[in-house]
Amino acid sequence: MEITITKTTTPRQKPSGNIPFGAFFSDHMFLMNYTKGQGWHDARIVPYGPLTLEPSAMVLHYAQEVFEGMKAYRTADGHIQLFRATENIARMARSCEKLCIPEVPADLYLDAVKKLVEVDKDWVPSQPDTSLYIRPYVIATDPKLGVHASSTYIFGIITCPVGSYYPEGINPVRIAIESREVRAVRGGTGFAKCGGNYAASLHASELAEQKGFSQVLWLDGVEQKYIEEVGSMNVMFKIAGKIVTPSLDSGSVLPGVTRKSCIQLLKDWGYEVQERNISIDELIGAVKSGALEEAWGAGTAAVVSPIGEIFYQGQDYTLNDFKIGPVTQKLYDTITGIQWGKIDDPYGWVIPVC
Ligand SMILES: *Cc1c(COP(=O)(O)O)cnc(C)c1O
Repeated sequence: MEITITKTTTPRQKPSGNIPFGAFFSDHMFLMNYTKGQGWHDARIVPYGPLTLEPSAMVLHYAQEVFEGMKAYRTADGHIQLFRATENIARMARSCEKLCIPEVPADLYLDAVKKLVEVDKDWVPSQPDTSLYIRPYVIATDPKLGVHASSTYIFGIITCPVGSYYPEGINPVRIAIESREVRAVRGGTGFAKCGGNYAASLHASELAEQKGFSQVLWLDGVEQKYIEEVGSMNVMFKIAGKIVTPSLDSGSVLPGVTRKSCIQLLKDWGYEVQERNISIDELIGAVKSGALEEAWGAGTAAVVSPIGEIFYQGQDYTLNDFKIGPVTQKLYDTITGIQWGKIDDPYGWVIPVC
């Protein structure tokens, strides 16, 4: 399908300094429509601006929506590249299936991302550790209040320049174990990247933030016993020399691209990586015995986020003297090295744009 391009006649001022996440959007956006019987149509890049929706649009009432998050990186020689974007595209197809949304053809999707990034290439910042965040989404647009899958959709992509996630160096975070509220349940939408999961997570996250924690550590929604994720990141532990991370089998853990990349690297570095259930009792036991060597969250925004302190049942447990551990640091250096083209990419993870 041809993507038509209409360029803005009023380019906007680009933000400078350390740009906050998700607050300044690039000049253009991608849009495409879906109509049942016709399929996806009218692929276009147009100036960034408001969408027109009926107040009865299904997404506003029943949250039939999915999204993705990835980045474009500027290399030292000025080229722009994506990191494992085909993984994001494949994941969105799985999210779409769960939400009864028609899949966006993978080739067209990648083409749309590349073309949009190229049109707004001047918005890809060049300071160290900065990038262009890319947010694809699909929303249900039928103007109907009956509860059923929509027959019309919009697939859109917006982008925004983002500053360094760690302007003051990598700081470990304090997290609270959430043993009352849950993010996702077995059989639910946990594995899908959909807005509804985020809406469901806000209440617990806000309470934790008020108490001075930056994230909650989610337990499973059935027994509230097994660790699932930390905030909106996957979570990984180094226990007695081995790497342990919650398995994806429950269907309530989001299959992160960063998680997958960490697992690959760790295996190649010779670590045993166990994807399995890990109970909160096992974790606290490992903290107390000193077997827990490192803990970190993994996700596109931060790459890795070391966990320096865990709060559970009225007790604070400090990990690794509240410092980033060597494995966490090595993962950060290697993944960001590949993303910004500073080191070789033996995995074929990088996708050049321009
Ligand atoms: C997006 C997301 C992640 C991280 O996935 P990446 O592909 O590594 O960015 C983890 N957990 C949740 C709930 C997410 O939405």
